[in-house]
Amino acid sequence: MIDRVAKAIDERAEDLVQLTADLIRFPTINPPGEAYTPCAEFLGERLRRHGFTVGFIRGEGTPGDTDRYPRTNVVARIEGRGAGPVVHFNSHIDVVEAGEGWTVDPFGGVVRDGRVYGRGACDMKGGLAASVIAVEAFLAVSPDFFGAIEISGTVDEESGGFGGVAYLAKKGLFSRPRVDHVIIPEPLNKDRICLGHRGVWWAEIETKGRIAHGSMPFLGDSAVRHMGAVLHAFEEELFPALDRKRTKMPVVPEGARRSTMNINSIHGGQTEDFRPGLPSPTVPDTCRLVIDRRFLLEEKIDEVKSEVVAILDRLKRERAKFDYTINDLMEVLPTMTERDAPVVTAVAEGIRHIFGREPDYVISPGTYDQKHIARIGHLHDCIAYGPGILDLAHQPDEWVGIDDMVQSANVMAIGLDVLLNRAGGH
Ligand SMILES: [Zn+2]
Repeated sequence: MIDRVAKAIDERAEDLVQLTADLIRFPTINPPGEAYTPCAEFLGERLRRHGFTVGFIRGEGTPGDTDRYPRTNVVARIEGRGAGPVVHFNSHIDVVEAGEGWTVDPFGGVVRDGRVYGRGACDMKGGLAASVIAVEAFLAVSPDFFGAIEISGTVDEESGGFGGVAYLAKKGLFSRPRVDHVIIPEPLNKDRICLGHRGVWWAEIETKGRIAHGSMPFLGDSAVRHMGAVLHAFEEELFPALDRKRTKMPVVPEGARRSTMNINSIHGGQTEDFRPGLPSPTVPDTCRLVIDRRFLLEEKIDEVKSEVVAILDRLKRERAKFDYTINDLMEVLPTMTERDAPVVTAVAEGIRHIFGREPDYVISPGTYDQKHIARIGHLHDCIAYGPGILDLAHQPDEWVGIDDMVQSANVMAIGLDVLLNRAGGH
């Protein structure tokens, strides 16, 4: 089986390159969510020709969903000859904006020197194409499998996945018994299995002041100076404490194997939009700070929040006229699939066979759609595995290697063989 499927993938190598380039030519930029429908239809049409039943599901009423920018997802399914496990490959079709610094057309689908270039080549249209070819090759050599295979192209991963995987998960499309195993071909490198991700807490902190004339600041109360005290306390206490928290999660890069926090933004005083370059002579009565706290499997979200709140409450006790509010903007719990989960061992066998070595097991520092599958779908047999070098994602001149796609398609096909043909069905 393994040799026959390898041959079937080799025969489809040109098709794989063509498919990747074709997908890149849809400028599925998010935001705003450009060209989702034609891209989803293109993928759906191809899979329909290969015998899949294809459905289009719009993320109605989700952030950004309008008639101009509909959140169009495609879900395709093919049944085997009898009941058995269901393997689902989920890829996001949206990409981030191209940005500056490109030497090729970011939406041209340029193929050169063994690479396909373009926005989304690596993250993650190359992975999507590799999974499609893996499944088509598997079906060609193993048409008598038991169970079912699904392939989805979903939207909005880059902006939280609410109109994509989260929406589908709420409709039961990522739960048993419809689906048993999920592989997300995100670019985590072809010989690594990504088991999950750290948690996220975004919050906005606002300090309050009192407006007054800037020439007599003693008559007012500066919200910016109060925020300065917050930042000072973060520097002195919080950042060193976060730095000391280590995790057993195998996060890559290694610097993320501890708790981290980014200060995303700070805005204080009158907005500059009204009078560019002409600051207002007033004491700022408000200052807002957005924090992005990434936390570990070993931490509870309540503790994560109370660490910050404790500092703010202490300032309120100790600092004259200090007052604040804090609002949650987003929270995502950390998730980590067990190393002996069926989808992990199946893909590990593929990596061993193709690369002759043990896979690396990693955790992503940031989140991806696995969060919705775990939390909404309650499905924990889920990993990210796909070609492409993670560091190239979102960069200018993004590319994916053709050999890498071919090799990871082989790994995926072996994974299918293990899960569908060798696991003995249900
Ligand atoms: Zn991605």
